[in-house]
Amino acid sequence: MEFQELLKFIEIESERLRKCYSNIDNDKLILAQTVKLTEELGELCSEVLAHKSLQRKQKLENHDQENIQEEFADVLIVTLILAKAMNIDIEKALENKIDKINKRYE
Ligand SMILES: [Mg+2]
Repeated sequence: MEFQELLKFIEIESERLRKCYSNIDNDKLILAQTVKLTEELGELCSEVLAHKSLQRKQKLENHDQENIQEEFADVLIVTLILAKAMNIDIEKALENKIDKINKRYE
């Protein structure tokens, strides 16, 4: 998948979300997505623990190894929706960050 294709999906999904919440302004959408990000991050952490067999036996018995991929995707998608709602140019932000990280090793 190309990055621009992902950003187009984020644009479409953001509009879908705005329609799901009736009378939600941008600030409330930002707050909702911020809370959602912590929810998704918690789900990802749980999957990482399960992947490494660091969960209770009962949880491991019902665990699906495929879930971890979905949780990584959830965290990225919610992060991108939140960045869009805050008018962050995420492509530029990533380019700048990557440059900054690369410069650490020069
Ligand atoms: Mg999830």
